Amino acid sequence: MAERRGLLIILSSPSGAGKSTLARRLMDWDGELAFSVSATTRAPRAGEVHGREYFFLSEPEFKKQVAEGEMLEHAYVFGHFYGSPAGPVKRSIEAGHDVLFDVDWQGEQQIRNSDLGKHALSIFILPPSIHELRRRLESRGQDAPEVIAKRMQKSWDEISHWGAYDYVLVNDDLDATEARLHTIIGAERMRREQQPWLNGHVRALQTEFEEMT
Ligand code: ADP
Ligand code: 5GP
Repeated sequence: MAERRGLLIILSSPSGAGKSTLARRLMDWDGELAFSVSATTRAPRAGEVHGREYFFLSEPEFKKQVAEGEMLEHAYVFGHFYGSPAGPVKRSIEAGHDVLFDVDWQGEQQIRNSDLGKHALSIFILPPSIHELRRRLESRGQDAPEVIAKRMQKSWDEISHWGAYDYVLVNDDLDATEARLHTIIGAERMRREQQPWLNGHVRALQTEFEEMT
């Protein structure tokens, strides 16, 4: 089978709904899936490694990269800058590898409006309830109570953009949500725009057809 183009798979959710957990599971499911490591000006959390979860940059460094056109998209979230470096994304999708993004609604909008937008697949993850969202944020044990309160306040802002996404999933049971993601990604990889080789195949069919008639 001929080569396909990679998809830009965007996962967004209010903080705590489970998108990082689902992103990790997707990477285990498909070892060829590349994760778009964002740049951020926020401080690393315990256990976060520069170049793995994020590229941790100073504000001047971040702004320089934006000014030089090195970010596919960028946004100001929870008082810090976040952005997706463009170079690795372009290289991956041209090589036929999908790229996974954990970005907010502003990132989704900018990627969709970029020149790579026709290869974007966006999925919004909703929590089963706001009560459960708070429970997950608390059980993650990564943030101070005031940070959790700030994230909870912001969660409705993020949820209010759910209608802009291609797919919307309620992350009730983790295994079930992951299975739904496999179905969506499996189907979207077969989109016509993802398979440029089809043009040549149809031309060959046409030639064969004309030779027969
Ligand atoms: P996000 O990346 O959206 O901020 P995380 O993936 O860090 O969220 O998930 C927040 C917490 O909720 C983590 O402790 C994670 O293990 C837990 N979690 C994620 N999905 C589920 C689920 N379906 N059921 C129960 N707990 C979940
Ligand atoms: P956190 O600080 O919890 O890692 O991320 C906070 C929020 O920033 C999340 O909603 C996450 O999706 C978003 N985010 C992370 N990286 C990027 C990025 O590169 N671009 C945009 N637009 N949002 C991002």
